[in-house]
This record gives sequence, C-alpha cells and structure tokens, in this order.
Amino acid sequence: REQKNKLPTYKGLENFKLLDKMGDGAFSNVYKAIDLTTGDKVAVKVVRKFELNASQAGEKHLSPQFKKKPRVTERANILKEVQIMKGTNHPSIVRLISFSESPEHYFLIMELMEGGELFHQIVKLTYFSENLARHVILQVAHGIRYLHEERGVVHRDIKPENLLFDRIPIIPSKRPVQRPYDEEKEDEGEFVPGVGGGGIGRIKIADFGLSKVIWNEETMTPCGTVGYTAPEIVKDERYSRSVDMWALGCVLYTLLCGFPPFYDESINVLTEKVARGYYTFLSPWWDDISHSAKDLIQHLLCVDPAQRYTIDEFLAHPWCNASPALPPPPT
Ligand code: ADP
Ligand code: MG
Repeated sequence: REQKNKLPTYKGLENFKLLDKMGDGAFSNVYKAIDLTTGDKVAVKVVRKFELNASQAGEKHLSPQFKKKPRVTERANILKEVQIMKGTNHPSIVRLISFSESPEHYFLIMELMEGGELFHQIVKLTYFSENLARHVILQVAHGIRYLHEERGVVHRDIKPENLLFDRIPIIPSKRPVQRPYDEEKEDEGEFVPGVGGGGIGRIKIADFGLSKVIWNEETMTPCGTVGYTAPEIVKDERYSRSVDMWALGCVLYTLLCGFPPFYDESINVLTEKVARGYYTFLSPWWDDISHSAKDLIQHLLCVDPAQRYTIDEFLAHPWCNASPALPPPPT
C-alpha cells in the first residue's frame, strides 16, 4: 500500500525526510516524516497552492477531475486552518508543530498519529463493546467540548477519517460484522485474535480544514454580531456547533454496531434519509446494546438542532458516566 519508492521531494521541505504516505486527498498529501533538525517523527501535510495547468504538467498526469476544475487553494482557508490549530492545546486535538510555505506548497508539520486512519479500518471490520466505544467517544467529546466552549470553534467535519489514533490500537475483542446492506460479505478481512485487556491509546481530532470560529476569543462575543446582525445569522451561530453533535452521534452509532446510521446506495435516497433523520436500531445488531446508549444516540441524531444535545448535555448523560473505562481526564 505504501509507496516508499515514489515519495516526492518538495522544495522548502529540505529539513524533513519523508518516510511514508499516510493520507491522500485531492489537494493535500500527508506524510510520515523525520524532522532532520530534531530527529523527531512528525506528520507533514502538504497542500498544493494551485493545480498545475494541463500545459505545465502534461495532460496525462492530470486526473479528469483536475482538468475540469482547476482551482487555487485559498490562502485564507489554509491560514484559518493553521490559525485554529495553533490556538488549540488539548490531548484530544492533533497538535500543529509548525507551518511554512514555498511558492508552490503549504506545509503543516503536525504531531504524528501513528495509528493513522486505523479507526476507519476497525469500523469496517468490527464493532466495539460499549465500554470501548465509551472510552473512544469520550476522548472525542472532550476535544469537542474544548473546541466549542473554550475556543469558540466548530469543527464541522467530525468523521472517522478525521479521528486518528496516536498509535496502532490493539482491540480487545474483534468481531466480524456482516452489515445489513452487504449483498455478500466482501471484506472478510483478517481478524487479529483478541488481545486480553488491549491497548487503545489516545484518539485525537484532526483536519481543521472546514472548521470555523464562531466567537471572538478576546471579547467572548459571537463573531460578527455587533448589533446589526440579522436574526437568522445569530440563530445560525447558536446552532452551528450542533453539527458536531450530529456527527458525534453518527460516530457513536457506528462504533457500537459497525455500520453507519444513514446509508443508501443512492445518494438521493441517502440525502432524504438524513434530511428526515430516518434511521433505526436495526435488529439483530442492536438487540444487545443498552437502552441508555440508544437514548443517548436519539438525543444526538435528532433533526431539530434546538432539541439536539449540546456537548455538556452529552457529557452529563448516564451512558457517558457509567463505569468503567473512563478516559484519562484532559490535562
Ligand atoms: P484532508 O483535508 O485532505 O481531509 P486531513 O488533514 O484530514 O486532510 O488529512 C488527510 C488524512 O491524512 C487523514 O484522514 C489521515 O489519514 C492522515 N493524517 C492527517 N493528519 C495526520 C497526522 N497528524 N498523523 C497521521 N496521519 C494524519
Ligand atoms: Mg480529512
């Protein structure tokens, strides 16, 4: 999977030795790397400033998507991502070590999350016990609480791909899942035998590319609300953080049963299901899951944002406070 031999070199990144590619996006690549000045392992997110013109790159190297959509990465967007990450300091948030740029690229040097997207892999193959799900989701929730209440930031892109393990987790019990919509079981996967006790480490929130500051940290007032702001904007700001709570509900649902709450082959049907908040606790997958967990999910996957739990309500719910397996308190 790794393309060790094909790692590019970037002008402006001479102080780093790239080791492996960890993530792939349309406009960014994330590498595992060594900071040659310190010897530390880090993650480097390289964001291209602009797409090469067809003439510059030679048509054949461009994916069809780029031919149609030449695009300049908005400087303001990347600086906002950097600004937000710079301002955060929490054990559940991926730390930004430094930021630099060259004429062609932006470079975000981050703490390395060795476990990478394994969260996603695990979700594909297994579902978690309630205790393990609690252990994971509470770490995410403490990160969200910090963002919402101490930083005035809404993440807006909470999903398994953006939740990273600091190291490769050892899951105590791996159980295969035949998802309800599986025609045949395609990804049988390899099941690592359960390791007693396991070790799952820390999970952290990454990717602030879509996140938004909703209040001004100096004045502790909503951004842009200076007395002339229209009510729908004020209302919007009040509800904007609820998008993270919906996403948290989707992640929790997925952790507990191994498949997401909303799914359909057809994007139109899926959109409709989400719009109506149409999901079920499908039998037999949900039969053995506690009433308390379902109650919590119902308060998150609730279409009316005014009714949806806030992060504090989430954290106060009995399911979150059941022992054992409380995560280490945030420091
Ligand atoms: P994008 O905006 O392209 O989604 P992300 O910041 O989410 O960019 O990074 C893309 C992927 O790279 C992530 O889903 C993850 O797999 C990997 N990744 C990102 N940051 C790190 C990190 N600090 N350590 C390890 N892997 C990372
Ligand atoms: Mg991402």
